[in-house]
Amino acid sequence: MKRLLILGGTGDAAKLATEASKLPGQLSEIEVVYSLAGRTRKPNLPDCETRTGGFGGPEGLASYLKDARIDLVIDATHPFAATMAAHAAAACTQTTTPRVKFCRSAWKSSEIRWISVQSYEEAAQKLSPLGKRVFLSIGTKDLDAFSALSEKWFLIRAVEEPALPIPLLSHNILLERGPFDEAHERTLLVSYQIDVLISKNSGGTPAVKLQAAHDLGIPIVMIEQPAMPDGEVVGSTEETVDWLTKHL
Ligand code: NAP
Repeated sequence: MKRLLILGGTGDAAKLATEASKLPGQLSEIEVVYSLAGRTRKPNLPDCETRTGGFGGPEGLASYLKDARIDLVIDATHPFAATMAAHAAAACTQTTTPRVKFCRSAWKSSEIRWISVQSYEEAAQKLSPLGKRVFLSIGTKDLDAFSALSEKWFLIRAVEEPALPIPLLSHNILLERGPFDEAHERTLLVSYQIDVLISKNSGGTPAVKLQAAHDLGIPIVMIEQPAMPDGEVVGSTEETVDWLTKHL
């Protein structure tokens, strides 16, 4: 029996963990452990063994890999979870544990145009001429870069009440869990009189908020994905199964 650690925290990761636990034939010899950072009080949990909380840096993760007898690691954390990705790469190198990054392709700007930026700080700089009412659709963790923009009003969306205070002078928090359809996003943009949308390029199926903003002529500022550590990358369940087969 091989033990597979899936570093999760996204809908894709939970789905992957459930599917990896039910693989047929030779691959049914895999025992899956799904790991969460523990940020969400009511996370989507897959149908397999789970664990919650940080490992204590790369060293902590390396120890965990040995203690929990992990043979393989799939890093399926969100593309913006750059610290966890770097720790996973370092710990797997140290313990010679095969690792792959599961990551959907980043969205490409074609019909829907956006202003592409590389950081939260650059997104904040681009905001000045783009209107007062901002849908800051990036979660609740990385808002500090926007805290000096006291003349702006921000709409923040979250699945649950943020654990920490929001560092923005003027804002509204909307609690709702996706997936959302385009009509919902259009109504939201219109009813909150949004002038500009800020999004992270999460990749995969393009978020319908982008189409809704585009149709309404609302400018989009897109924060592009941070660089990933070197190593193999898969973007679908099929590619993941191929990778697992190769490592059995
Ligand atoms: P991060 O900045 O890369 O990670 C910070 C620390 O959180 C890591 O060093 C690690 O602590 C712990 N951690 C992160 N993911 C973990 C996991 N799956 N299992 C155990 N520990 C984990 O990550 P983040 O941006 O805070 O994201 C945290 C979680 O939220 C991830 O699971 C990610 O997939 C999910 N998420 C993130 C975003 C985003 O935009 N960043 C969006 C949606 C979901 P130690 O160093 O102590 O091991």
